Amino acid sequence: MAKSKNSDRICSFCGRQIPEDQFLIAGLSGLICGDCVRAIEGIMQNVEAENQKKAIASLKVNLLKPHEIKARLDEYIIGQDEAKKVISVAVYNHYKRVLQATSEEDKEVEIEKSNILMIGETGTGKTLIARTIAKLLDVPFCIADATVFTEAGYVGEDVESILTRLLQAADYDVAKAERGIVFIDEIDKIARKGADNPSITRDVSGEGVQQSLLKLLEGSIVNVPPQGGRKHPEQEFIHVNTQNILFIASGAFNNLDRIISERMNTNAIGYNKKNHSLDKSNMLQYVSVQDVKQFGLIPELCGRFPVITSLNPLDADALKQILTKPKNALVKQYIKLFKMDKIDLTFSEGALDYIVNKAVELKLGARGLRSIIEKIMTDAMYDFPSLNKKKIEVTEEYAREHFEKSIFSFLDKKN
Ligand code: ADP
Repeated sequence: MAKSKNSDRICSFCGRQIPEDQFLIAGLSGLICGDCVRAIEGIMQNVEAENQKKAIASLKVNLLKPHEIKARLDEYIIGQDEAKKVISVAVYNHYKRVLQATSEEDKEVEIEKSNILMIGETGTGKTLIARTIAKLLDVPFCIADATVFTEAGYVGEDVESILTRLLQAADYDVAKAERGIVFIDEIDKIARKGADNPSITRDVSGEGVQQSLLKLLEGSIVNVPPQGGRKHPEQEFIHVNTQNILFIASGAFNNLDRIISERMNTNAIGYNKKNHSLDKSNMLQYVSVQDVKQFGLIPELCGRFPVITSLNPLDADALKQILTKPKNALVKQYIKLFKMDKIDLTFSEGALDYIVNKAVELKLGARGLRSIIEKIMTDAMYDFPSLNKKKIEVTEEYAREHFEKSIFSFLDKKN
Protein backbone atom coordinates (compact mmCIF):
# COMPACT_ATOMS: atom_id res chain seq x y z
CA MET A 1 0.00 0.00 0.00
CA ALA A 2 1.30 3.48 -0.76
CA LYS A 3 0.52 7.15 -0.37
CA SER A 4 1.87 9.24 -3.22
CA LYS A 5 1.73 12.69 -4.74
CA ASN A 6 -1.81 13.84 -5.71
CA SER A 7 -1.07 14.00 -9.45
CA ASP A 8 0.11 10.31 -9.45
CA ARG A 9 -2.99 9.11 -7.69
CA ILE A 10 -4.89 7.69 -10.67
CA CYS A 11 -6.52 4.23 -10.26
CA SER A 12 -5.47 2.01 -13.18
CA PHE A 13 -8.84 0.23 -12.94
CA CYS A 14 -11.46 2.99 -12.80
CA GLY A 15 -9.19 5.85 -13.97
CA ARG A 16 -10.36 8.11 -11.14
CA GLN A 17 -8.17 10.62 -9.31
CA ILE A 18 -8.02 9.31 -5.71
CA PRO A 19 -8.04 11.87 -2.87
CA GLU A 20 -5.00 12.12 -0.57
CA ASP A 21 -6.78 10.61 2.46
CA GLN A 22 -7.69 7.36 0.66
CA PHE A 23 -5.46 4.33 0.36
CA LEU A 24 -4.21 2.91 -2.89
CA ILE A 25 -2.60 -0.42 -3.54
CA ALA A 26 0.46 -0.15 -5.73
CA GLY A 27 1.23 -3.00 -8.11
CA LEU A 28 4.05 -3.45 -10.63
CA SER A 29 2.12 -1.89 -13.47
CA GLY A 30 -0.17 0.57 -11.70
CA LEU A 31 -2.38 1.54 -8.78
CA ILE A 32 -5.77 0.32 -7.61
CA CYS A 33 -8.18 2.21 -5.37
CA GLY A 34 -10.09 0.88 -2.35
CA ASP A 35 -13.47 1.09 -4.14
CA CYS A 36 -12.19 -1.11 -6.96
CA VAL A 37 -10.71 -3.62 -4.48
CA ARG A 38 -14.09 -3.89 -2.72
CA ALA A 39 -15.93 -4.23 -6.04
CA ILE A 40 -13.57 -7.02 -7.17
CA GLU A 41 -13.96 -8.76 -3.83
CA GLY A 42 -17.76 -8.74 -4.29
CA ILE A 43 -17.45 -10.13 -7.82
CA MET A 44 -15.11 -12.89 -6.64
CA GLN A 45 -17.51 -13.87 -3.84
CA ASN A 46 -20.35 -14.18 -6.34
CA VAL A 47 -18.19 -16.26 -8.66
CA GLU A 48 -17.21 -18.57 -5.80
CA ALA A 49 -20.83 -18.93 -4.67
CA GLU A 50 -21.85 -19.76 -8.25
CA ASN A 51 -19.05 -22.31 -8.55
CA GLN A 52 -20.08 -23.92 -5.28
CA LYS A 53 -23.68 -24.14 -6.45
CA LYS A 54 -22.57 -25.71 -9.71
CA ALA A 55 -20.40 -28.22 -7.81
CA ILE A 56 -23.35 -29.17 -5.60
CA ALA A 57 -25.64 -29.44 -8.59
CA SER A 58 -23.19 -31.70 -10.36
CA LEU A 59 -23.04 -33.92 -7.26
CA LYS A 60 -26.80 -34.31 -7.10
CA VAL A 61 -27.65 -37.95 -6.84
CA ASN A 62 -30.07 -39.54 -9.21
CA LEU A 63 -33.03 -39.18 -6.83
CA LEU A 64 -35.69 -41.76 -7.53
CA LYS A 65 -39.01 -41.98 -5.65
CA PRO A 66 -39.55 -44.93 -3.25
CA HIS A 67 -41.81 -46.77 -5.73
CA GLU A 68 -39.19 -46.34 -8.46
CA ILE A 69 -36.37 -47.51 -6.19
CA LYS A 70 -38.39 -50.57 -5.20
CA ALA A 71 -39.29 -51.34 -8.83
CA ARG A 72 -35.62 -51.18 -9.81
CA LEU A 73 -34.66 -53.39 -6.86
CA ASP A 74 -37.32 -55.88 -8.02
CA GLU A 75 -35.37 -56.34 -11.25
CA TYR A 76 -32.42 -57.78 -9.35
CA ILE A 77 -33.69 -59.03 -5.99
CA ILE A 78 -36.21 -61.81 -5.62
CA GLY A 79 -38.65 -61.66 -2.68
CA GLN A 80 -37.67 -59.58 0.38
CA ASP A 81 -40.57 -57.21 -0.37
CA GLU A 82 -40.79 -55.72 3.09
CA ALA A 83 -37.04 -55.08 3.32
CA LYS A 84 -36.98 -53.56 -0.17
CA LYS A 85 -39.87 -51.25 0.72
CA VAL A 86 -38.36 -50.11 4.03
CA ILE A 87 -34.99 -49.50 2.40
CA SER A 88 -36.48 -47.63 -0.57
CA VAL A 89 -38.13 -45.18 1.84
CA ALA A 90 -35.00 -44.82 4.00
CA VAL A 91 -32.78 -44.16 1.00
CA TYR A 92 -35.25 -41.66 -0.47
CA ASN A 93 -35.44 -39.77 2.85
CA HIS A 94 -31.70 -39.86 3.27
CA TYR A 95 -31.05 -38.22 -0.07
CA LYS A 96 -33.86 -35.70 0.45
CA ARG A 97 -32.02 -34.77 3.62
CA VAL A 98 -28.77 -34.39 1.69
CA LEU A 99 -30.46 -32.17 -0.86
CA GLN A 100 -32.07 -30.05 1.85
CA ALA A 101 -28.67 -29.48 3.41
CA THR A 102 -27.38 -28.05 0.14
CA SER A 103 -30.43 -25.95 -0.74
CA GLU A 104 -31.41 -22.46 0.36
CA GLU A 105 -34.78 -23.63 1.65
CA ASP A 106 -36.03 -23.57 5.23
CA LYS A 107 -33.51 -25.31 7.44
CA GLU A 108 -35.39 -25.03 10.70
CA VAL A 109 -36.57 -28.62 10.68
CA GLU A 110 -33.53 -30.79 10.40
CA ILE A 111 -34.14 -34.23 8.93
CA GLU A 112 -32.19 -36.89 10.79
CA LYS A 113 -30.02 -39.44 9.11
CA SER A 114 -31.63 -42.80 8.35
CA ASN A 115 -28.83 -45.34 8.55
CA ILE A 116 -30.15 -48.84 8.02
CA LEU A 117 -29.62 -52.12 9.88
CA MET A 118 -30.43 -55.26 7.89
CA ILE A 119 -30.80 -58.55 9.68
CA GLY A 120 -30.99 -61.90 7.91
CA GLU A 121 -29.30 -65.22 7.24
CA THR A 122 -26.27 -65.35 4.98
CA GLY A 123 -26.97 -65.32 1.25
CA THR A 124 -30.44 -63.75 1.44
CA GLY A 125 -29.58 -60.60 -0.50
CA LYS A 126 -28.42 -58.04 2.07
CA THR A 127 -25.25 -57.04 0.24
CA LEU A 128 -26.98 -57.27 -3.11
CA ILE A 129 -29.67 -54.79 -2.01
CA ALA A 130 -27.10 -52.26 -0.77
CA ARG A 131 -24.95 -52.64 -3.87
CA THR A 132 -27.94 -52.28 -6.17
CA ILE A 133 -29.08 -49.11 -4.37
CA ALA A 134 -25.63 -47.56 -4.82
CA LYS A 135 -25.67 -48.44 -8.51
CA LEU A 136 -29.16 -46.97 -9.01
CA LEU A 137 -28.19 -43.72 -7.35
CA ASP A 138 -24.80 -43.71 -9.00
CA VAL A 139 -22.92 -43.00 -5.77
CA PRO A 140 -19.65 -44.54 -4.53
CA PHE A 141 -20.08 -47.75 -2.56
CA CYS A 142 -17.80 -49.84 -0.37
CA ILE A 143 -18.08 -52.91 1.79
CA ALA A 144 -16.30 -53.24 5.13
CA ASP A 145 -16.25 -56.27 7.36
CA ALA A 146 -16.75 -55.26 10.99
CA THR A 147 -14.69 -58.20 12.23
CA VAL A 148 -11.38 -56.78 10.98
CA PHE A 149 -11.68 -53.61 13.05
CA THR A 150 -10.31 -53.04 16.49
CA GLU A 151 -10.42 -50.11 18.84
CA ALA A 152 -7.35 -47.86 18.85
CA GLY A 153 -4.38 -49.50 20.49
CA TYR A 154 -5.21 -53.07 19.44
CA VAL A 155 -3.81 -55.00 16.50
CA GLY A 156 -6.07 -54.71 13.47
CA GLU A 157 -7.49 -51.98 11.24
CA ASP A 158 -8.77 -48.66 12.56
CA VAL A 159 -12.43 -48.05 11.78
CA GLU A 160 -11.47 -44.93 9.84
CA SER A 161 -10.02 -47.15 7.14
CA ILE A 162 -13.63 -47.95 6.16
CA LEU A 163 -13.64 -44.47 4.67
CA THR A 164 -10.37 -45.13 2.85
CA ARG A 165 -12.27 -47.72 0.84
CA LEU A 166 -15.06 -45.28 0.13
CA LEU A 167 -12.52 -42.69 -1.03
CA GLN A 168 -10.96 -45.29 -3.30
CA ALA A 169 -14.39 -46.09 -4.75
CA ALA A 170 -14.81 -42.34 -5.40
CA ASP A 171 -11.36 -42.03 -7.03
CA TYR A 172 -10.32 -39.90 -4.05
CA ASP A 173 -12.93 -37.28 -4.91
CA VAL A 174 -13.80 -36.29 -1.31
CA ALA A 175 -17.05 -34.49 -2.15
CA LYS A 176 -18.26 -37.51 -4.07
CA ALA A 177 -17.28 -39.91 -1.26
CA GLU A 178 -19.17 -37.73 1.20
CA ARG A 179 -22.42 -38.72 -0.53
CA GLY A 180 -21.63 -42.40 -0.84
CA ILE A 181 -22.91 -45.57 0.79
CA VAL A 182 -20.89 -47.68 3.24
CA PHE A 183 -21.96 -51.25 3.83
CA ILE A 184 -20.72 -52.69 7.13
CA ASP A 185 -21.05 -56.45 7.12
CA GLU A 186 -21.07 -58.79 10.14
CA ILE A 187 -21.95 -56.04 12.59
CA ASP A 188 -23.33 -58.77 14.88
CA LYS A 189 -19.79 -60.09 15.37
CA ILE A 190 -18.79 -57.00 17.34
CA ALA A 191 -21.64 -57.39 19.82
CA ARG A 192 -20.87 -57.40 23.52
CA LYS A 193 -20.33 -60.84 24.85
CA GLY A 194 -23.28 -61.84 26.98
CA ALA A 195 -25.62 -64.57 28.04
CA ASP A 196 -27.76 -64.02 24.95
CA ASN A 197 -25.03 -64.49 22.41
CA PRO A 198 -22.62 -67.09 23.74
CA SER A 199 -21.37 -67.66 20.19
CA ILE A 200 -19.62 -64.28 20.22
CA THR A 201 -16.03 -64.69 21.27
CA ARG A 202 -14.98 -61.05 21.29
CA ASP A 203 -15.29 -59.25 24.56
CA VAL A 204 -12.94 -56.35 25.12
CA SER A 205 -12.63 -54.99 21.62
CA GLY A 206 -16.19 -55.76 20.49
CA GLU A 207 -17.60 -52.95 22.55
CA GLY A 208 -14.57 -50.75 21.83
CA VAL A 209 -15.14 -51.09 18.09
CA GLN A 210 -18.78 -50.20 18.55
CA GLN A 211 -17.67 -47.05 20.36
CA SER A 212 -15.27 -46.16 17.55
CA LEU A 213 -17.97 -46.68 14.95
CA LEU A 214 -20.23 -44.17 16.71
CA LYS A 215 -18.07 -41.27 15.66
CA LEU A 216 -18.20 -42.33 12.05
CA LEU A 217 -21.95 -42.79 12.08
CA GLU A 218 -22.99 -39.62 13.86
CA GLY A 219 -21.75 -37.27 11.15
CA SER A 220 -18.42 -35.73 11.96
CA ILE A 221 -15.18 -34.80 10.26
CA VAL A 222 -12.98 -37.87 10.33
CA ASN A 223 -9.24 -38.09 9.66
CA VAL A 224 -8.87 -40.81 7.09
CA PRO A 225 -5.56 -42.51 6.33
CA PRO A 226 -5.31 -42.39 2.50
CA GLN A 227 -3.90 -45.92 2.31
CA GLY A 228 -6.05 -47.49 5.05
CA GLY A 229 -4.78 -49.83 7.74
CA ARG A 230 -3.60 -48.29 10.99
CA LYS A 231 -3.18 -44.58 11.55
CA HIS A 232 0.23 -43.27 12.49
CA PRO A 233 1.21 -39.77 13.57
CA GLU A 234 3.53 -38.81 10.67
CA GLN A 235 0.85 -39.65 8.16
CA GLU A 236 -1.11 -36.99 6.26
CA PHE A 237 -4.84 -37.47 6.59
CA ILE A 238 -7.74 -36.72 4.32
CA HIS A 239 -10.63 -35.01 6.14
CA VAL A 240 -13.94 -36.60 5.34
CA ASN A 241 -17.29 -35.34 6.61
CA THR A 242 -19.54 -38.34 7.29
CA GLN A 243 -22.70 -36.30 7.74
CA ASN A 244 -24.22 -37.32 4.42
CA ILE A 245 -22.75 -40.77 4.05
CA LEU A 246 -25.41 -43.47 4.27
CA PHE A 247 -24.35 -46.41 6.44
CA ILE A 248 -26.03 -49.75 5.93
CA ALA A 249 -25.02 -52.39 8.47
CA SER A 250 -25.91 -56.04 8.22
CA GLY A 251 -25.55 -59.29 10.06
CA ALA A 252 -27.06 -62.73 10.57
CA PHE A 253 -27.54 -62.24 14.35
CA ASN A 254 -27.67 -65.95 15.14
CA ASN A 255 -30.08 -66.78 17.96
CA LEU A 256 -31.74 -63.38 17.79
CA ASP A 257 -34.99 -65.25 17.07
CA ARG A 258 -34.86 -66.69 20.60
CA ILE A 259 -34.57 -63.20 22.09
CA ILE A 260 -37.52 -62.03 19.98
CA SER A 261 -39.62 -65.07 20.97
CA GLU A 262 -38.95 -64.43 24.64
CA ARG A 263 -39.82 -60.77 24.38
CA MET A 264 -43.04 -61.61 22.59
CA ASN A 265 -43.86 -64.41 25.03
CA THR A 266 -44.33 -66.84 22.22
CA ASN A 267 -45.15 -70.44 23.12
CA ALA A 268 -43.88 -73.51 21.29
CA ILE A 269 -46.58 -73.50 18.63
CA GLY A 270 -46.35 -69.80 17.88
CA TYR A 271 -48.99 -68.05 19.99
CA ASN A 272 -48.13 -65.19 22.26
CA LYS A 273 -49.87 -64.28 25.52
CA LYS A 274 -52.40 -62.10 23.73
CA ASN A 275 -53.19 -65.14 21.60
CA HIS A 276 -51.84 -63.62 18.41
CA SER A 277 -50.56 -66.21 16.00
CA LEU A 278 -46.95 -65.59 15.05
CA ASP A 279 -44.85 -67.16 12.33
CA LYS A 280 -42.45 -69.21 14.45
CA SER A 281 -40.40 -70.18 11.41
CA ASN A 282 -39.38 -66.57 10.81
CA MET A 283 -39.30 -64.65 14.07
CA LEU A 284 -36.75 -62.16 12.68
CA GLN A 285 -39.58 -60.33 10.93
CA TYR A 286 -40.75 -59.10 14.36
CA VAL A 287 -37.33 -57.67 15.32
CA SER A 288 -37.22 -54.45 17.29
CA VAL A 289 -34.40 -52.26 18.55
CA GLN A 290 -34.84 -53.76 22.04
CA ASP A 291 -33.84 -57.19 20.73
CA VAL A 292 -30.76 -55.88 19.01
CA LYS A 293 -29.70 -54.15 22.24
CA GLN A 294 -30.21 -57.32 24.18
CA PHE A 295 -28.14 -59.18 21.61
CA GLY A 296 -25.22 -56.94 22.50
CA LEU A 297 -25.15 -53.80 20.40
CA ILE A 298 -24.69 -50.80 22.66
CA PRO A 299 -27.70 -48.46 22.89
CA GLU A 300 -25.82 -45.52 21.33
CA LEU A 301 -24.98 -47.61 18.28
CA CYS A 302 -28.58 -48.84 17.99
CA GLY A 303 -29.62 -45.18 18.11
CA ARG A 304 -27.56 -44.52 14.99
CA PHE A 305 -29.59 -47.08 13.04
CA PRO A 306 -33.14 -45.76 13.16
CA VAL A 307 -34.23 -48.12 10.38
CA ILE A 308 -34.15 -51.84 11.17
CA THR A 309 -35.40 -54.41 8.73
CA SER A 310 -35.15 -58.17 8.33
CA LEU A 311 -34.69 -60.42 5.34
CA ASN A 312 -36.55 -63.69 4.97
CA PRO A 313 -34.83 -67.04 4.59
CA LEU A 314 -34.99 -68.16 0.96
CA ASP A 315 -37.00 -71.31 0.23
CA ALA A 316 -36.54 -73.60 -2.79
CA ASP A 317 -39.07 -71.61 -4.80
CA ALA A 318 -37.23 -68.33 -4.24
CA LEU A 319 -33.87 -69.96 -5.02
CA LYS A 320 -35.21 -71.26 -8.33
CA GLN A 321 -36.41 -67.81 -9.25
CA ILE A 322 -33.04 -66.32 -8.28
CA LEU A 323 -31.42 -68.78 -10.63
CA THR A 324 -33.52 -67.73 -13.60
CA LYS A 325 -35.46 -64.46 -13.15
CA PRO A 326 -33.31 -61.43 -12.19
CA LYS A 327 -31.79 -59.28 -14.93
CA ASN A 328 -28.38 -60.83 -14.31
CA ALA A 329 -29.62 -64.27 -13.16
CA LEU A 330 -26.90 -66.94 -13.09
CA VAL A 331 -28.59 -69.03 -15.78
CA LYS A 332 -28.82 -65.96 -18.06
CA GLN A 333 -25.13 -65.26 -17.48
CA TYR A 334 -24.10 -68.79 -18.54
CA ILE A 335 -26.36 -68.68 -21.58
CA LYS A 336 -24.70 -65.42 -22.59
CA LEU A 337 -21.19 -66.82 -22.05
CA PHE A 338 -21.93 -69.75 -24.37
CA LYS A 339 -23.73 -67.57 -26.90
CA MET A 340 -20.50 -65.62 -27.35
CA ASP A 341 -19.07 -68.88 -28.69
CA LYS A 342 -22.25 -69.34 -30.78
CA ILE A 343 -23.34 -72.25 -28.59
CA ASP A 344 -26.99 -72.61 -27.65
CA LEU A 345 -27.14 -73.53 -23.93
CA THR A 346 -30.33 -74.67 -22.19
CA PHE A 347 -31.13 -76.05 -18.74
CA SER A 348 -33.91 -78.57 -18.15
CA GLU A 349 -36.37 -78.03 -15.26
CA GLY A 350 -34.88 -81.13 -13.63
CA ALA A 351 -31.38 -79.62 -13.75
CA LEU A 352 -32.62 -76.37 -12.18
CA ASP A 353 -34.39 -78.31 -9.41
CA TYR A 354 -31.25 -80.34 -8.80
CA ILE A 355 -29.16 -77.16 -8.37
CA VAL A 356 -31.76 -75.60 -6.06
CA ASN A 357 -32.04 -78.72 -3.88
CA LYS A 358 -28.27 -78.88 -3.52
CA ALA A 359 -28.23 -75.20 -2.45
CA VAL A 360 -30.94 -75.91 0.15
CA GLU A 361 -28.89 -78.87 1.42
CA LEU A 362 -25.77 -76.71 1.76
CA LYS A 363 -27.71 -74.05 3.73
CA LEU A 364 -25.84 -71.19 2.08
CA GLY A 365 -28.88 -69.41 0.71
CA ALA A 366 -28.39 -68.07 -2.78
CA ARG A 367 -24.64 -68.00 -2.19
CA GLY A 368 -24.51 -71.76 -2.80
CA LEU A 369 -26.12 -71.49 -6.24
CA ARG A 370 -23.10 -69.93 -7.88
CA SER A 371 -20.57 -72.48 -6.66
CA ILE A 372 -22.85 -75.40 -7.57
CA ILE A 373 -23.57 -74.20 -11.10
CA GLU A 374 -19.89 -73.37 -11.59
CA LYS A 375 -18.93 -76.94 -10.68
CA ILE A 376 -21.52 -78.32 -13.09
CA MET A 377 -20.48 -76.09 -15.98
CA THR A 378 -16.67 -76.18 -15.70
CA ASP A 379 -16.16 -79.18 -18.05
CA ALA A 380 -18.52 -77.74 -20.65
CA MET A 381 -16.84 -74.34 -20.50
CA TYR A 382 -13.49 -76.03 -20.92
CA ASP A 383 -14.40 -78.40 -23.75
CA PHE A 384 -17.12 -76.78 -25.82
CA PRO A 385 -15.26 -73.81 -27.31
CA SER A 386 -12.87 -76.34 -28.97
CA LEU A 387 -15.59 -78.73 -30.16
CA ASN A 388 -17.70 -78.25 -33.19
CA LYS A 389 -20.99 -78.49 -31.28
CA LYS A 390 -23.61 -75.78 -31.39
CA LYS A 391 -25.99 -77.01 -28.70
CA ILE A 392 -25.79 -78.19 -25.13
CA GLU A 393 -28.67 -79.12 -22.85
CA VAL A 394 -27.87 -79.41 -19.16
CA THR A 395 -30.20 -82.14 -17.93
CA GLU A 396 -30.65 -83.39 -14.38
CA GLU A 397 -28.35 -86.35 -15.14
CA TYR A 398 -25.69 -84.08 -16.58
CA ALA A 399 -25.93 -81.77 -13.56
CA ARG A 400 -25.70 -84.62 -11.05
CA GLU A 401 -22.84 -86.35 -12.85
CA HIS A 402 -20.71 -83.21 -13.10
CA PHE A 403 -21.47 -81.93 -9.63
CA GLU A 404 -20.63 -85.27 -8.02
CA LYS A 405 -17.53 -85.62 -10.17
CA SER A 406 -16.23 -82.27 -8.96
CA ILE A 407 -16.95 -83.14 -5.33
CA PHE A 408 -15.18 -86.50 -5.64
CA SER A 409 -12.18 -85.03 -7.43
CA PHE A 410 -11.97 -82.48 -4.60
CA LEU A 411 -12.08 -85.29 -2.03
CA ASP A 412 -9.47 -87.29 -4.02
CA LYS A 413 -7.15 -84.27 -4.01
CA LYS A 414 -7.63 -83.91 -0.26
CA ASN A 415 -6.78 -87.58 0.48
P1 ADP B 1 -25.88 -61.63 2.11
O1 ADP B 1 -27.30 -61.61 2.61
O2 ADP B 1 -25.06 -62.66 2.84
O3 ADP B 1 -25.27 -60.28 2.07
P2 ADP B 1 -25.63 -61.51 -0.74
O4 ADP B 1 -26.48 -60.34 -1.02
O5 ADP B 1 -24.16 -61.31 -0.80
O6 ADP B 1 -26.00 -62.19 0.64
O7 ADP B 1 -26.02 -62.69 -1.73
C1 ADP B 1 -25.08 -63.52 -2.36
C2 ADP B 1 -25.49 -63.74 -3.80
O8 ADP B 1 -26.70 -64.48 -3.83
C3 ADP B 1 -25.83 -62.44 -4.53
O9 ADP B 1 -24.75 -61.94 -5.24
C4 ADP B 1 -26.92 -62.85 -5.48
O10 ADP B 1 -26.37 -63.40 -6.64
C5 ADP B 1 -27.64 -63.94 -4.76
N1 ADP B 1 -28.83 -63.52 -4.02
C6 ADP B 1 -29.01 -63.56 -2.67
N2 ADP B 1 -30.22 -63.20 -2.32
C7 ADP B 1 -30.86 -62.87 -3.45
C8 ADP B 1 -32.18 -62.40 -3.75
N3 ADP B 1 -33.09 -62.20 -2.78
N4 ADP B 1 -32.49 -62.18 -5.04
C9 ADP B 1 -31.57 -62.39 -6.02
N5 ADP B 1 -30.34 -62.85 -5.82
C10 ADP B 1 -29.97 -63.09 -4.55
